[in-house]
Amino acid sequence: MIQNIVEFFRNLPAKVCSECGGTIDEQHECYSNKCDQCQGVTSL
Ligand SMILES: [Zn+2]
Repeated sequence: MIQNIVEFFRNLPAKVCSECGGTIDEQHECYSNKCDQCQGVTSL
């Protein structure tokens, strides 16, 4: 069931930036464990 998968991800703890300790947007789960600011790779 797709709903079970959704629940699984919703129950996962939020990723935390290893630099500033801030929560990381889940859209960046494929990147390093740093937030946009600390990575400095946000689109200009
Ligand atoms: Zn950070």
